Amino acid sequence: MDRWTRSGVRCHANLILVNPRLTELFEQAYRELRPRAPLPEFKIQFFPFANLNNTIRLREGRILVRLSDLMEGAADNVLHAILHILIAKLYRKSIDEGQAARFRKFAGSQSISAKTHLIRQIRGRKKIHGPKGAQYHLEEIFEELNTKFFFGLMARPHITWSANHSRRSLGHYDPAHNTIVVSRVFDRPDVPRYAVEYLVYHEMLHLRHPVKLRGSRRCVHGPAFQAEEKLFPHLEEAKRFLKNL
Ligand SMILES: [Zn+2]
Repeated sequence: MDRWTRSGVRCHANLILVNPRLTELFEQAYRELRPRAPLPEFKIQFFPFANLNNTIRLREGRILVRLSDLMEGAADNVLHAILHILIAKLYRKSIDEGQAARFRKFAGSQSISAKTHLIRQIRGRKKIHGPKGAQYHLEEIFEELNTKFFFGLMARPHITWSANHSRRSLGHYDPAHNTIVVSRVFDRPDVPRYAVEYLVYHEMLHLRHPVKLRGSRRCVHGPAFQAEEKLFPHLEEAKRFLKNL
């Protein structure tokens, strides 16, 4: 529970830890529903959704499953049930009643609802101030960058200007709230748009290059992160601007 009680982990993207059994369970659930179809490429991630949210997508023949991190400690039969439900939904197959019941029971269980409730409370404490500033609209900037650099494929987290004009943190990604926060200092006409774009882009790269360590507060900019950061056309100008701020 400690990761939920800490305040925002600066700069870090989602902390992902995948149970190796999940791959096996996915294959099993897939085979049961589509015995003759070849097994597609797939990826399963735990994701800090604000509730017991689980999603599945098919992109270019590849399946991406995101399970709420509330599922992390679930028993194998519960994980099997949710994978069955998601795969059945994706291919419009009927959902097995036993599997549906198993998942419902899990979702309704005392410990899970208590944990969900607690997390909602903790997450709720974080005030969201909104993406629309006086000068720049962060969601618009996010979507432009998403189209330009990520083929529009990145799921948009919450994105907001900070509550105050803090200079301590220029921008950060808070995985507990799945929120990118950009300091309100930059919501001014004398701040060039590329500087704001760079801050958002940097945090998007944290989403794209998640850190597998748990509980670390270090800001990790690995080689892949840095290589991708260099694709930003105004990188040097932006860095210079932020340094001289
Ligand atoms: Zn960073």
